[in-house]
Amino acid sequence: MIETDVAIAGAGHGGAQAAIALRQQGFEGRILLIGRESHLPYERPPLSKEYLARDKPFERIMIRPEKFWADKNIDLRLGTAVTDIDPRAREVKLTDGETVRYGSLIWSAGGDARQLSCSGVTLAGVHSVRNRPDVDRIMAELDAGAKKVVVIGGGYIGLEAAAVMTKLGCSVTLLEAQDRLLARVAGEDLSRFYEKEHREHGVDIHLEAKVDCLEGDGEKVTGVKMHDGSVLPCDMVIVGIGIVPAVGPLIAAGAAGANGVDVDEYCRTSLPDVYAIGDCAAHGNPYANGAVIRLESVQNANDMATTAAKDICGNSESYNALPWFWSNQYDLKLQTAGLSFDHDTTVLRGDPDSRKFSVLYLRDGRVIAVDAVNNTKDYVQGRKLIEARIPVSPDTLMDTEIPLKDLL
Ligand code: NAP
Repeated sequence: MIETDVAIAGAGHGGAQAAIALRQQGFEGRILLIGRESHLPYERPPLSKEYLARDKPFERIMIRPEKFWADKNIDLRLGTAVTDIDPRAREVKLTDGETVRYGSLIWSAGGDARQLSCSGVTLAGVHSVRNRPDVDRIMAELDAGAKKVVVIGGGYIGLEAAAVMTKLGCSVTLLEAQDRLLARVAGEDLSRFYEKEHREHGVDIHLEAKVDCLEGDGEKVTGVKMHDGSVLPCDMVIVGIGIVPAVGPLIAAGAAGANGVDVDEYCRTSLPDVYAIGDCAAHGNPYANGAVIRLESVQNANDMATTAAKDICGNSESYNALPWFWSNQYDLKLQTAGLSFDHDTTVLRGDPDSRKFSVLYLRDGRVIAVDAVNNTKDYVQGRKLIEARIPVSPDTLMDTEIPLKDLL
């Protein structure tokens, strides 16, 4: 039996930041960071960008060097995962057979890559892009000569992977179930812009694509069979069709939740002294117009980690961070802030053909989100407009001669 004051289940961005934030808040108790992978905590966004492109080695995507964890007296237990939680006894069981007794538990297990539900998904050459071993396997197959890639899913994972693969000289076909790319996360203008860019870079995009199954030679994937009977030959498939929140042990222990696990504004679950943060935490976000949502972003993981750490340290502060994230594809830097899902108006600011423009999303006359492409100024000033929650006219927003900051 291991005894600790705070056990953290999951050593991704949220888990690592929770440990760091506890120390920053002056917490002097024992901290145990439990990670399923055997690697030190590392950043996930580069997996589908610089790490896959080999522009950054693993050492450069580590969240902190090894020495940091020892210096801060944070115990790491890597290569193991929590399987069961007993909230009454305040104990968790690990896959390596160990039991941990905790004072508080922070659940930061994130999510697992969603898998296709068709035959052929276990063939060699079929990959997710969720963790380092996934990407290491992809790189090994590229080294072995893989050239023809089918990417399934036109969200950020699929698009970023397609951009890197194209740059590496592969021929790329991308299949998206919806009638536009980025349908879950962005407006139509942005979707069409990215579709055009990818096509110009040679990506063969199929929208409203219906995958039937993956075909193989008994061992390795050889093609993707579509619903209409056609087959797209390939030697690698990358699947980026979203995530499934990793909350099984929490829900089995009685925590409330349906889509992930429910948390309050301090990231507390319904179980005593059990917090949940990051991708798996369903919360009432102050920028979501009263909706309960999960946010799959580094910003959310980090800021929720700090919220939970503060609550444990008795400095409670409710979670109210403005959501933001980014995506790099080719030479395009997308920066987004706010949540656009229930907007009633969009304003296109600038000309997409110039490859520098923004899309502003409004609800009831106020800016609620901004997507800025190669336009950091609009992103920074757009954030302020969102936070100000003041009425603005779409005509003024459209005028690129007027800096957004002048509307504040
Ligand atoms: P995602 O954003 O959910 O996009 C997946 C897309 O694949 C959806 O449009 C989905 O359509 C489509 N899809 C689902 N099943 C399909 C099928 N059988 N055939 C073809 N298309 C299908 O998920 P993701 O791109 O995998 O990303 C996973 C997570 O990583 C997300 O949380 C994402 O935000 C995060 N991430 C973030 C960044 C960044 O911040 N830059 C980069 C990479 C990843 P339906 O809606 O119909 O299911």
